[in-house]
Amino acid sequence: MHWDQVSQMVTEAVEANFDQQIAETQKLIRIPSLRGCEGEGQDFVENAFRRLGLTIDRWEINTEELKQSRNYGVPDPDAGPQENVVGTYRPTAEKGRSLILNGHIDVVPVGPLEQWEMDPWSGSASAEWIYGRGAGDMKAGLVANMFALQAIFDAGLRPRSTVILQSVVEEESTGNGANAALQRGYSADAALISEPEDDALVRANTGVLWLTLRVTGQPAHPRIMTDGSNAIEYAFEVLQSLKSLEEQWNSQSGSHEHFEGVPRPINFNLGKISGGDWASSVPGWCELSLRISTFPGVSPEEALAEVRAHVAEFNRDSRYQVSVEPSGFFADGYVLDPGGDAESLLAQCHRHVAGSELETITTPGYLDASLFVNHADVPTLVYGPYTENIHSFDERVSIESLKQCTKTIALFAAFWCGVEPAEARDE
Ligand SMILES: [Zn+2]
Repeated sequence: MHWDQVSQMVTEAVEANFDQQIAETQKLIRIPSLRGCEGEGQDFVENAFRRLGLTIDRWEINTEELKQSRNYGVPDPDAGPQENVVGTYRPTAEKGRSLILNGHIDVVPVGPLEQWEMDPWSGSASAEWIYGRGAGDMKAGLVANMFALQAIFDAGLRPRSTVILQSVVEEESTGNGANAALQRGYSADAALISEPEDDALVRANTGVLWLTLRVTGQPAHPRIMTDGSNAIEYAFEVLQSLKSLEEQWNSQSGSHEHFEGVPRPINFNLGKISGGDWASSVPGWCELSLRISTFPGVSPEEALAEVRAHVAEFNRDSRYQVSVEPSGFFADGYVLDPGGDAESLLAQCHRHVAGSELETITTPGYLDASLFVNHADVPTLVYGPYTENIHSFDERVSIESLKQCTKTIALFAAFWCGVEPAEARDE
């Protein structure tokens, strides 16, 4: 079918369904799918996939099985069972290129509630924004994937190849959800992940590791404080020293393609701290939860070894012991090779919808695309709507941008897979 005809039919269907798309996005935001509590969110997704007529595959991810795989992330022992949901559309005969539309159901913690102006779980909307934890990262994208496929159906068309919709867990902490989907055999000729990327395409991202740095010292009564060794204070010395390693890694930006102009691509974030027992004892222990990043091409094993070597000098002081253990993400970075067919088509669809060229960006954070690219060699486009305050207070997604991205994704799916009139399906 002709480009103009298909693009008009599909974008009109996105337009016609858009009020409903906003309403569904709001409903999903109202379900607090925090880590370990994804079940109700996945129920919502499963029902939506069923309404699309997809074949459902819902399973509990088995982290024991993932242990042997590259980039296995040490799970949270308290997270409990976590399930992925996949919905598959299969044509009667494969005539086009297959596609995965992926999103993650998990959202990050809300932080102190009193710093939110909006209730993080209200899913409230203004004329311009939809608000809430996960609004941008990435429930808007997850629902957009469904409405992209819905638009193709509502235009009276059917994809000529397999389309796999995925809602995975653990994107914000280990990547084990997407890894489990790959291990289960899901692959395709291309994948698109509708993460909040401000209407741009991700060219490259960093690898990410979660590390727990544990310091043990010697507890003592403060009246003989010098007999003790303060694990918390020592942990800060170690942290300060790690900042020099962070600087050293950042100084190599120029030698990593796609990172040359990116300010501070490498970030060591102290995200959580615990230690000591109360104010009147010299603390004998301290744990720092660190998130560090790496350039593509630097393996997580190499990065971990370098961090361990760096902190080893702090073990020379016999009053303390310092250890570093993986405690979550153990991910490689990736680069999307420029100029592939998928990228060219996305650029064409974006230009058609937005009236501007598709920009490419480097994201100094983790993306599940890393697993698709590095494990299965699937060209993976990370492209999604404009957002503000993700992982912060009053997270919000732009409604106009969401509509534009949904149209672009729908067109991309239609032209990547190829479409035919619904009645021609069984010919
Ligand atoms: Zn995300």
